[in-house]
Amino acid sequence: MHGPIVGIDLGTTNSLVAVCDERGPRVLRDARGGALVPSVVRFSADGSVEEVGVGAVALAAQDREFLARTVSGSKRALGRSLAEVSVDGGGWALRGMGQVVDDGRGRPSYEMPHARRSPEQVAAAILRHLMDFAQAQLGGTGEGTARAVITVPAYFDDAQRQATRDAARLAGIEAVRIINEPTAAALAYGIGREGGSTETIAVFDLGGGTFDISILQVTPPAKGGAGADLDAGLFRVLSTAGDTQLGGDDLDIAMAREVCPGAHDLPPEDRHALLLACTRAKHRLSDAASATIPFRGVEHALTAARLAELAAPWVSRAIAACDRAWSDAGRPAIDRLLMVGGSTRSPFVRVAAGAFFGVEPSTALDPDQVVALGASIQAAVLSGRRTDILLLDVVPLSLGIETAGGAFAKLIMRNSTIPTRASEMFSTGVDGQRRIALHVLQGERELARDCRSLAQCELTVPSMPAGIPQVEVTFTVDASGLLSVHAMERRTGIRAGVQVIPSYGLSRDEVEAMERDSILHARDDMRRHRVIDLIANASLDLRWVESATARVGGTLPAHVRETIQAAAVALQAHIDAARADLDAVDPDEFFRAKEALDRASVPVHELSIVQSLKDLEVQTRGTAP
Ligand code: ADP
Ligand code: MG
Repeated sequence: MHGPIVGIDLGTTNSLVAVCDERGPRVLRDARGGALVPSVVRFSADGSVEEVGVGAVALAAQDREFLARTVSGSKRALGRSLAEVSVDGGGWALRGMGQVVDDGRGRPSYEMPHARRSPEQVAAAILRHLMDFAQAQLGGTGEGTARAVITVPAYFDDAQRQATRDAARLAGIEAVRIINEPTAAALAYGIGREGGSTETIAVFDLGGGTFDISILQVTPPAKGGAGADLDAGLFRVLSTAGDTQLGGDDLDIAMAREVCPGAHDLPPEDRHALLLACTRAKHRLSDAASATIPFRGVEHALTAARLAELAAPWVSRAIAACDRAWSDAGRPAIDRLLMVGGSTRSPFVRVAAGAFFGVEPSTALDPDQVVALGASIQAAVLSGRRTDILLLDVVPLSLGIETAGGAFAKLIMRNSTIPTRASEMFSTGVDGQRRIALHVLQGERELARDCRSLAQCELTVPSMPAGIPQVEVTFTVDASGLLSVHAMERRTGIRAGVQVIPSYGLSRDEVEAMERDSILHARDDMRRHRVIDLIANASLDLRWVESATARVGGTLPAHVRETIQAAAVALQAHIDAARADLDAVDPDEFFRAKEALDRASVPVHELSIVQSLKDLEVQTRGTAP
């Protein structure tokens, strides 16, 4: 039997494992009683894993030999080249632990006395350690693979996500989902459950070595539906920003320099001991006004006020990233600000973040645990414990956009297996239309109003006649179910895009109801869709005939003009009636009226072509030398 799927926060500094069962989400503790496992691995001389977590940190402090076999901060190197890692700063940031060398293919590798280990192998050791104690407590060690939902920063690219999966595989763990840390944090806070209005959330995650700010928009599931008490609404990432070189470690270094200005030249053991003492003092200063840092037999006093001063430039950098993310999101009012990551325990961090976003920060959940808890909620959904939120390996309902007149154009069909991708061309229906609204929908019905609205974005293009802009819309659903919609106007290269997780907030019951409805209404829906298309096409025809008649109609015999006029009036009547009520018109009659105008206006077409040729001739003659 399979054990439960666990949620793992694989952090740069600390990692955690959590599980969500009947009692709700909770973090699991190792034999030492700690939930936080330092992301530190000590290898034996032959390269086998000797200690992970607290044990590895304790031994690393003892002597140079142990230090040379201890690796920390390996998350920074996951899925990256040696060049990228070196730019990021080895040495200090890595606390001198684990010598990084080229593995021969430009990838970083940790050099031990008698072995080399890749960042994936180090991460695998941490994942295995977490899984071991989770399985010991939860059972299910026998048959079946260990399964986990693992979180990664929102800025992780494909290579970094893949390296995370590889690390899990090396650890004998199936990574059933890789999810973004801010999404997990929002899930842990139960955001979207209350029902009611849409909220804009800022997730401020300041860890040991990285800062990540994400602005999410969460739309709770519709009231009254099966999803009334869902844990997840609809999550839409409006923007992300951050700094991969900003975290609590920098503060430890600043403190170390304050105590010992030549700290960076200390032998590795002393440097390590000093940093450790600084970290401890920093933690105390989150609650106390002053603390001491013992170093080389001297107690160095430091006040919370001085720490806040030392931290000021560092806090400014975090706020600058917040400003980037906030302005990218269009400077929306922030309803909630979630504090994530151990460094948000520092009061000056909370104050600065709260002041910037103009909202009291949420600190109800332990900032160290919040990501792992959210991952475990996602895991519970996947293992079927939580059937109130739907997550499948197929697209449960068709995805597409609203077209002019309110029809639903499906780009990705229901039950397509993910990942999947589709694109289609669209244009405008009105002359000079500059703003092209993209309304992303989900559902099986033919009309936009009967589908579920997922997201909206807008493309602003230069003024062009109706039908001229060529907007290529591409839908991509990645392996985690994240839908990215991109639109590009081909002539101008103007782009817009939006991301959304379509399955959030959808219950199985809702999906079934939507399927049933689509079958029930199939015939009516098809008819209405056809009427909507007729409205759009007939309107374009009418507009063209009108302007062409005005241009060249003067030479037409009166009776031809009268026939055209009569056909146009008849067609306009159909359009008006259909606009008032889609069901009030017979699409076949509507279609015949459109054909009648097409036939009647043949002479206008011919004249117009002749006229165009003449215009061309005049122009050519006019411009010839
Ligand atoms: P990561 O996500 O990078 O693994 P964490 O969220 O575990 O990191 O945060 C680790 C950082 O939080 C470390 O720099 C640690 O010193 C800092 N931290 C933990 N507790 C406190 C505290 N009480 N006050 C200030 N900083 C803290
Ligand atoms: Mg973290």
